[in-house]
Amino acid sequence: MKTHRIAVIGAGPSALFLVAALLERATDPVSIDVIDRLPAPYGLVRYGVAPDHANIKAIITTFQKVFERENVRFLGNVEFGRDLTLADVQRHYDAVCYANGASKDRHLGVPGEELEGSISATEFVMWYSGHPDAALGTDIHQRIAAIVPSLRTVAVVGAGNVAVDVTRILAKSVAELRTTDIPEYVLDALSQSQVRDIHVIARRGPAQAKFTTAELRELGEIPNVDVVVDANELVLDDASVASIASSAIAKRNMDVLGEFSTRPRTDAARRIHLRFFLSPLEIVGEGHVSGMRLQKNVLDEAFNAVPIDVTTHLETELVLRSVGYRGVALDGVVFDERRGVIPSELGRVLDANGRALSGQYAGGCINRGPTGVIGTNKGDAVETAKSMIADLPALASCANPEPAAVDALLRDRGARPIDWQGWLEIDRREIEEGAKSGRARVKLTNLEQYLERV
Ligand code: NAP
Repeated sequence: MKTHRIAVIGAGPSALFLVAALLERATDPVSIDVIDRLPAPYGLVRYGVAPDHANIKAIITTFQKVFERENVRFLGNVEFGRDLTLADVQRHYDAVCYANGASKDRHLGVPGEELEGSISATEFVMWYSGHPDAALGTDIHQRIAAIVPSLRTVAVVGAGNVAVDVTRILAKSVAELRTTDIPEYVLDALSQSQVRDIHVIARRGPAQAKFTTAELRELGEIPNVDVVVDANELVLDDASVASIASSAIAKRNMDVLGEFSTRPRTDAARRIHLRFFLSPLEIVGEGHVSGMRLQKNVLDEAFNAVPIDVTTHLETELVLRSVGYRGVALDGVVFDERRGVIPSELGRVLDANGRALSGQYAGGCINRGPTGVIGTNKGDAVETAKSMIADLPALASCANPEPAAVDALLRDRGARPIDWQGWLEIDRREIEEGAKSGRARVKLTNLEQYLERV
């Protein structure tokens, strides 16, 4: 029976749930290469899930099993479009699935966004997660490390779980964070922070906030941190009252926010202010951020934020824009610029005329958009895997299915792939390094460090 060669682009949760679904469901033999531009696997779980959420990162144990199968290879440090083009992939694989996530930040579209001190939450998350693109010496590290020591007030724009994550990391003491895998140079920078007030700014009301209740509740459990909520901002219009009756999350969020609003202020070292019905009009400052002009909103009948003629000024040295992610186009692959996704139906990539492109599939956030939690990718993965398995027998065979031919091509291109054994060696060293300071691991952060260890 023919072995189908499959390339999966990305090694994060969308990719690995997909590979697991293919392994579980495929009736014909398959041989899968998981290709990622980063030198380490696990994508968002390693570089997006907050470092103090070790319970969510535990999914890595399940993902590891995927790579222990002899018909699955990891090709880390291989960039699609640079080291391996779409034409190469089509020559060496019968099918490809794009599962490269949604890694780009969305913009606010207000003046002053380019000022120093206006940073996307995406960059901030990469920084404290030890992402190679934000490692010591990179532009992202320098921009953030330069600003942290002068911090007194921070404005986080957006009311999703990423906004809550960056707020929690800024609010926690370095002593608490030291138990996580946050790199030492990030802890050094954070230890200089004088942050007193963190304002989380939502353009709509508390009933429309996107964060989930467990994450919200956690903000109220940080030692030596007050959470401040103005009870007046929790007063809902009739339509919002009706809407929370059918949303368990919104109802629970309102309960938690209500409890926060009754808490007396203490002399805690830091305060988190959860603010509603405010949109940024302008980020202001000479060269770097010194404040933000905000406009008050009300809701229309469809729960959209509608500005009213009331503005307010917030002094702040850092604006963290946390207004969602979007997908990045891959070289030569169809892409819907407006939605930031690869257009598809049941995981089959569609051309401009809505016809399925033979042998091309998409899964995870690049397929559905940047919504849901890590586990949401599992359902998506099963749907895409089912389409792939149904199509595989009828797909044209690629010209050169030998795995060794891909390795030779990558060598010719000057790429330096990190395979699964290479990663296991790195993983072992990271855990060893962590043990020296009582931590679960200390991540390697720059590419040279990775390459010298394989
Ligand atoms: P998100 O949940 O979509 O939240 C984005 C926030 O930005 C919303 O409050 C949105 O308000 C606001 N926003 C968008 N455009 C804006 C603008 N121009 N001005 C002001 N505010 C604006 O996105 P996210 O926080 O980046 O999270 C992405 C996904 O990852 C979510 O599904 C999230 O649950 C998930 N995640 C989960 C965890 C976890 O489980 N612990 C952790 C992190 C992320 P509107 O509602 O008004 O549009």
